[in-house]
Amino acid sequence: MSIEVTTLHKSYGTNAAVKGISFRAKPGRVLGFLGPNGAGKSTTLKILSGSIPPTSGHASVYGFDVYQDSLTARQHIGYLPEHNPLYLDMYVHEMLAFAAGIHRITRARERIAEVISLTGLESQQYKKINELSKGYRQRVGLAQTILHDPKVLILDEPTSGLDPNQLQDIRSLIKQLGIQKTVLLSTHIMQEVEAVCDDVIIIHQGHIVADFPLEELAVRYPDLDLESLFMRLTTPSSPII
Ligand code: ADP
Repeated sequence: MSIEVTTLHKSYGTNAAVKGISFRAKPGRVLGFLGPNGAGKSTTLKILSGSIPPTSGHASVYGFDVYQDSLTARQHIGYLPEHNPLYLDMYVHEMLAFAAGIHRITRARERIAEVISLTGLESQQYKKINELSKGYRQRVGLAQTILHDPKVLILDEPTSGLDPNQLQDIRSLIKQLGIQKTVLLSTHIMQEVEAVCDDVIIIHQGHIVADFPLEELAVRYPDLDLESLFMRLTTPSSPII
């Protein structure tokens, strides 16, 4: 397993955001973390990326605890936070060189050229980030996320705010990256899961309420498509199935 999460809890003061979740993710697959706003998706992803500590429980990446052994775990993780933090005044290639320096990447020039090509940024690399469209900014975020060639990508709502064309481009890029890596992405959009993911976890009010490979949807829930299942599991008045 590339990601293992065991009875993970996170409270902010008295507000319990994540309530004892456990799950695993496999290499070569894209796992969609699907849930309504406030379900606990970002909190889980922040813990996995080592950005915040859990209140209790464990999370590990390739056997390294993301909290106890954070530095080693982070070498295997590429994390794209929800609000893609980029230095808008930097040029694309300059931003990537800066990120390569932080990761102490050897042969940085070659690796930067490689990720620019992988993310389709050739035509934009000498532009300032503040001149780029939202879709290209997201590509820069992804380029930065994969720069140190991590085995695990953690992407928090990677397509939010994109127009339909950009959305499709970024989704296919993520799918392509998922062939060789483990990708965990959060979203509140069912179509996103259907378009990009191999496995899905539905999270609601800090609990995992479903966890299955997408190809098993029809076997596990013969009468429901993903949308109706999601509505059933996350709408308070719906009967529990
Ligand atoms: P999601 O990503 O699914 O929208 P979050 O993980 O952001 O959910 O939030 C889960 C819960 O934790 C929500 O009730 C949210 O208000 C709360 N929360 C998130 N971040 C903080 C924080 N920094 N301080 C206090 N409460 C927070």
